[in-house]
Amino acid sequence: MKILADYHTHTIFSCGNNEKRRHAKGTIEENVLAAIDKGLEVIGISEHGFNHNFYGLSRKNAKREREEIDRLNEKYPQIKILMGMECNILDDTGKIDMPDDMVQYFDYILAGYHYGSKPTSFRSLLHHIDNVLFSGKLFSKDYNTRALIRAMERYDIKYITHPGDKGDIDIERVAEAAVRTNTGLEINGHHDKLSVDMIEAISHMDIKFYIGSDAHKPENIANFKRAYEIVEESGLAPTRVVNLG
Ligand SMILES: [Zn+2]
Ligand SMILES: [Zn+2]
Repeated sequence: MKILADYHTHTIFSCGNNEKRRHAKGTIEENVLAAIDKGLEVIGISEHGFNHNFYGLSRKNAKREREEIDRLNEKYPQIKILMGMECNILDDTGKIDMPDDMVQYFDYILAGYHYGSKPTSFRSLLHHIDNVLFSGKLFSKDYNTRALIRAMERYDIKYITHPGDKGDIDIERVAEAAVRTNTGLEINGHHDKLSVDMIEAISHMDIKFYIGSDAHKPENIANFKRAYEIVEESGLAPTRVVNLG
């Protein structure tokens, strides 16, 4: 199978407002060159969302990133470069950190749960704490599941990144909502989610599976090694992964 696209990659613009802090290593152009080198047809740049305490795209850098991607699309016509965002799923209303006035800059939206996104209420803070200390197994499984489902219902999300990572979820309920809302689910080798068990539980459903590298440095662009192992162990036909061809 050939890797057609990698929609989940980060660059130095995931640094937040402090440009000296490096959450990810490569520039956009370095990610693009690595993607060309790997023979991809499409590369997506998907920085972390705006409402995180420690990292993520800043509003100022969103505009700069859009301009840079437009420039690079002209410079490298052999590949299509898209500007995405890996939004944070913030609470169980399904709210994600994509402000209405910023959505115009983006070609697509991914969304996932991360520790350290800014709590929207005392309740959401409590669930963060349960997720950080106990992977959500104490009292947050239902909350985490609802958060993902409602995010898919409220927003046009291309796929959910690393579903169930850092917070326990009911994968069958999430998968049902993914089918109903035409949202993909990611097999992320970096986080081992979806896991083999999860895929086995939902592969009978009409899920759009994606593999994302979650590269935080250019050499990891389209590094799907662990994700391939997960696919193989779960018995999922590789033809069912949307971005393989
Ligand atoms: Zn993530
Ligand atoms: Zn990521």
